[in-house]
Amino acid sequence: MTNPLHDALFAPLSGRHSPLLILQDGTTLSADAFLRRIARQAHALRGAGVAKGDRIAAQVAKTPEALALYGAAVALGAVFLPLNPAYTPGEVAYFLGDSTPRVFLCDPARQASLAPMAARHGAALLTLDAQGGGTLTDMAAAQPDGFDAAPCGPDDLAALLYTSGTTGRSKGAMLTQRNLLSNAQALAQLWRFTADDVLLHALPIFHTHGLFVASNVSLLTGGAMIFLPGFDADTVLRLLPQATAMMGVPTFYTRLLSDPRLDRDLVAHVRLFVSGSAPLLAETHQAFEARTGQRILERYGMTETNMNTSNPYDGQRRAGTVGFPLPGVELRLTQGDTEVATGDIGQIEVRGPNVFAGYWKMPEKTAEELRPDGFFQTGDLGRLDADGYLRIVGRMKDLIISGGFNVYPKEVEMLLDAVPGVQESAVIGLPHPDFGEAVFAVVVPKAGVRLEAAEVLSGIGGRLARFKQPKAAVVVAELPRNAMGKVQKNVLRQTYAGWFAS
Ligand code: AMP
Repeated sequence: MTNPLHDALFAPLSGRHSPLLILQDGTTLSADAFLRRIARQAHALRGAGVAKGDRIAAQVAKTPEALALYGAAVALGAVFLPLNPAYTPGEVAYFLGDSTPRVFLCDPARQASLAPMAARHGAALLTLDAQGGGTLTDMAAAQPDGFDAAPCGPDDLAALLYTSGTTGRSKGAMLTQRNLLSNAQALAQLWRFTADDVLLHALPIFHTHGLFVASNVSLLTGGAMIFLPGFDADTVLRLLPQATAMMGVPTFYTRLLSDPRLDRDLVAHVRLFVSGSAPLLAETHQAFEARTGQRILERYGMTETNMNTSNPYDGQRRAGTVGFPLPGVELRLTQGDTEVATGDIGQIEVRGPNVFAGYWKMPEKTAEELRPDGFFQTGDLGRLDADGYLRIVGRMKDLIISGGFNVYPKEVEMLLDAVPGVQESAVIGLPHPDFGEAVFAVVVPKAGVRLEAAEVLSGIGGRLARFKQPKAAVVVAELPRNAMGKVQKNVLRQTYAGWFAS
């Protein structure tokens, strides 16, 4: 038995002395040195009691050591569980209690407050700081730099990623070696990654986008990564000329566009810009092309399924769509148990080697969302164009039912966004005494523009059936977003909950 993920991503780094990670200060870490770091960490973690199948939870900054920790977990056949550094101790307590990791890593600055919690859940506490130092690194220093990877099968768990959980309890998505490897292989091929690529990596590595899409594709194909601790426009603009590819969330692109230094020459060397994790406005897509000559390639995925669809590399990258199913991924749109006709809106369901093994310790929740025939109900609503491009219309839980009629927020948002002076918008349903829910718009003006809510509403008047028209709107400076740039509609619903109260 082998360890497929280790064999594909990490073992080939051996003996390769070219840079794997290029850091923001210009220093580099070779592939071989990175693999030796993984080996030393794996020994240290085994010394701390980690065995195959154990969870290794880590709430740490993005550093080469944190990425090596993922490699060490894979080598041990352990289950890697990265946590957003923004989680509060209360949230961390839930994750530790639910996942009962053997080891929990945190920043030394939080050690004192988190130690009792780790002890309560039986986890050994190790530290890793934003410079890569801490007890893990100290323990690893004296260890041998070769490690025989634990034998694993494709169905063994490699990672447990908690969903962002905007409603209800956050759920742990169990991801197998097959899930991760099959998806990396499909994306690498589709997006033409090779050993010559240099990927600008500014995404967090506690989330599927940065940890799996970006890192796995690059590791699998033997390229290098410009490995940044986060997105900082100055640093990204300085280093982009060295990159051949960048993966980002839409806010990366809007921030780059707001900087006049972004131009055609600066990105002449880049062959691919990918966007995902939140909808990329068609306007951003067009503005980016006008400025740089590059058409951003948008793809769609989620924690539970890895990536599902992508715009084509060679064919037309259609703004406002997420393209076609990846090779090996089946897609259907349903209402209830019935497939909808082409062009109609339905829930996006997917099946394939990318789809997770279920929610950790939640068999009922798993059975609710994973159908017996293997299709996963994503909770996203979509529509297929006549030529097969998928458009995401929103989340099912964001669907508004006003006076008994369905209103898809995206349809209203697209009209609002086209009103002169509007930068972006979010449409939500709020409790209303007559209608059950009423359509409500939150609108952000373009920089330097003064907008009145009434003016925006009259800008779309007559272009929508009455029941779809927002009953009220507010103008705000910005929309609340999470770390991946997703608009937090739950926060907006809370903020304006009483708006229509009688
Ligand atoms: P997460 O599990 O945090 O990766 O969130 C997954 C969700 O993000 C999906 O279910 C979609 O609702 C949304 N999402 C991801 N990619 C896109 C995209 N390209 N366009 C629109 N929504 C997206």
